[in-house]
Amino acid sequence: MMEILSALLTTAAWFGMCMIVFSVLAVLIPLHPRQPLWRRESFLDTIYWFLPSVLYAPLSLAMVGAGLYLMHGGDEQRIAAFVKQGYAPIATLPLWLQFVLLLVISDFIQYWIHRSFHGAAFWKFHAIHHSPKEVDWMVAARFHPVNFIVSSIFVGTLMILLGFSPVLFAMMVPFNYLYSGLVHANVKWSFGPLKYVFASPIFHHWHHTMSDQGGNMNFAPTLAIYDWLFGTFYMPKDKLPEQYGVDSDDVPEDFVGQLFYPFLNPQVQEELHAARTPKEYAESVPSQENAVIAAHAEPAPAVSETKATSIPAGAWSDTNAGNTPSTPYVDAP
Ligand SMILES: [Zn+2]
Ligand SMILES: [Zn+2]
Repeated sequence: MMEILSALLTTAAWFGMCMIVFSVLAVLIPLHPRQPLWRRESFLDTIYWFLPSVLYAPLSLAMVGAGLYLMHGGDEQRIAAFVKQGYAPIATLPLWLQFVLLLVISDFIQYWIHRSFHGAAFWKFHAIHHSPKEVDWMVAARFHPVNFIVSSIFVGTLMILLGFSPVLFAMMVPFNYLYSGLVHANVKWSFGPLKYVFASPIFHHWHHTMSDQGGNMNFAPTLAIYDWLFGTFYMPKDKLPEQYGVDSDDVPEDFVGQLFYPFLNPQVQEELHAARTPKEYAESVPSQENAVIAAHAEPAPAVSETKATSIPAGAWSDTNAGNTPSTPYVDAP
């Protein structure tokens, strides 16, 4: 009980911090200047923000505990040693290198999990995250429990069992809060040339548009380079994302309704979201507007292009492993 109370207080502190930081940014450099700081669905998103403290923390502990027990055959001394320092060789690497490694591995896995959730079979779980018609930092936590458990708890448990130092996971908490809040924030920021490496607010806002505008692209949570490598990078040069939401307008606007939404209508519709890029969509439904979309769909540049080589070597440097993970992004929007 005390653990849950303490987790709730920690979440409240981060919630307050994110509210201040991202509200100030939304006023200074808004992507949508007329969007209010408190939206119609902000209260609902607040529930999703506090859900992990109550629901997922015990589940996460149980999964890690079960994994460790199985890996060590119940040997308490070995489990205690692992909890203290992780596993060699990964845990013996410098912390900044572990941070980079963790990001590279977990982002790769999460890219593919996220892409799978956009497929017809799992889309209804993920539609909860995509249903808001206005997007800001609060949407960062809005995930159906099934989506959250697979994308975050499962991947987090896997990373812990791989042997990364437990200290690293304490560092990841502020990073995750701030980074996922930032990419959802109502902020007109693309990270300039670093947009091919890191997910920016504009990058992720494109992901929240309808499937015929970019909603089936930009899957990486942090490293946009995976979208670039796997051909799902989408940031048109002369356009900004405008409308958000899902193609089928049937996602309930209340918490309980959203929990049951994926189960109540089991026949999976052939959603437009199912594995179609804006370009493919435009080709399948030819119209004047879609021709424009196809023309704007920026193809993922080849790895050998100058854009790839012009990525500053320092992008991966220890600036990312420090205490202020947002410091590398200093370029203008
Ligand atoms: Zn998505
Ligand atoms: Zn999102």
